[in-house]
Amino acid sequence: MAGKSILQKLAILADAAKYDASCASSGTVRRDSTATKGIGSTEGMGICHSYAPDGRCISLLKILLTNFCVYDCRFCINRASSNVARARFDPQEVVRLTLDFYKRNYIEGLFLSSGIIRSEDYTMEQLVEVARLLREEHRFQGYIHLKTIAGADPALIALAGIYADRLSTNVELPTEAGLASFAPEKKPGVIRKTMASVRTREADVLDAAKGRLIGKAPPPRFAPAGQSTQMIVGADAATDADIVGKASRLYDNFRLRRVYYSAFSPIPDASAVLPLKRPPLIREHRLYQSDWLMRFYGYKPTEVMQATEADGNLPLDIDPKLAWALKFRDSFPVDVNRATKEQLLRVPGLGVKAVHKILASRRHRTLRLDDVARLTQSITKVRPFICTVDWRPTLLTDRADLRTMLAPKTEQLELFAA
Ligand code: SF4
Repeated sequence: MAGKSILQKLAILADAAKYDASCASSGTVRRDSTATKGIGSTEGMGICHSYAPDGRCISLLKILLTNFCVYDCRFCINRASSNVARARFDPQEVVRLTLDFYKRNYIEGLFLSSGIIRSEDYTMEQLVEVARLLREEHRFQGYIHLKTIAGADPALIALAGIYADRLSTNVELPTEAGLASFAPEKKPGVIRKTMASVRTREADVLDAAKGRLIGKAPPPRFAPAGQSTQMIVGADAATDADIVGKASRLYDNFRLRRVYYSAFSPIPDASAVLPLKRPPLIREHRLYQSDWLMRFYGYKPTEVMQATEADGNLPLDIDPKLAWALKFRDSFPVDVNRATKEQLLRVPGLGVKAVHKILASRRHRTLRLDDVARLTQSITKVRPFICTVDWRPTLLTDRADLRTMLAPKTEQLELFAA
């Protein structure tokens, strides 16, 4: 490490961070520095580039504090036994980089993670110090996402939440068996405890906020964009049903804002226990769609699991909402002019916005098929599952070849039309 320039370190530590997908700057409070004479904003536009291995663009300076690590997680390029170039920033260097990039309008914030050096507490202290320097000494108002180190002292996690917009603790793999064989030093109970400490702190701040309403002191700030996590998909044998079940428990138990699914990316110098090929990217996409079904469409985890095939995985050729509808055809067709919101949300091809528009429009008039067609990208997908004043699908809903008729002819991503 000695003798590396800051740019050489940046090259190593930005590259090392690209395997983590658990960052996004949505959901935080709006701030800018006009009034504070500080610097930064969570709202501004910027040329902000950080790339995941599959090419997705993430608009944060996304780096590791260090890629030295005492752990040896098999799926990780930074594991202790990996033969990669190593580097380490000190907190002041990260601060300088963040401010320089911000002032040049390259980024809108910082995503900072780290390999584990010396101990979990020491590593967490270093991460917190970066955020503290940015917020307290430079009055930085941009977005900060800090990785929390599982097993670190809850007092450090509480401090991290004062400075960061979002905290995230990666669960890494969907099953405890997977974690035991691929990341033996990571203990599920320790990860849960760290997530619980974030959750508890969030709840305390919420209580304090309620107290404020009855005249007590204003509550401290704590990770206003909440906590998130990442699960690696396709490194172990976990099925989509396992992953959906795990995500649902995480949402319920820790009130996570987001679970990120990251298709396993083969890494250089990989452990022999890992698959040689990455899973199809569409699998990651289907999991994101299933996540939306649970969060915005009212599906229970067990219902999403019903959409899986005999091997426990979601179909790749059609989205999970269509897969569910094809399995439960007796729930259709629904009458667009009478159905409840919950029933309409189950119709393949009708998104949340379209359903709201239907509910608003039908207060004034009776809807025809053309009215629905104007609200959706594909009326072909919708028609077998609805009836309107001028349309009934009759035998269409029960046709044996309906799946073939509705499956996209070429692979396409239609997340928001679920
Ligand atoms: S703890 Fe595991 S996943 Fe994290 S940097 Fe170290 S080896 Fe990689």
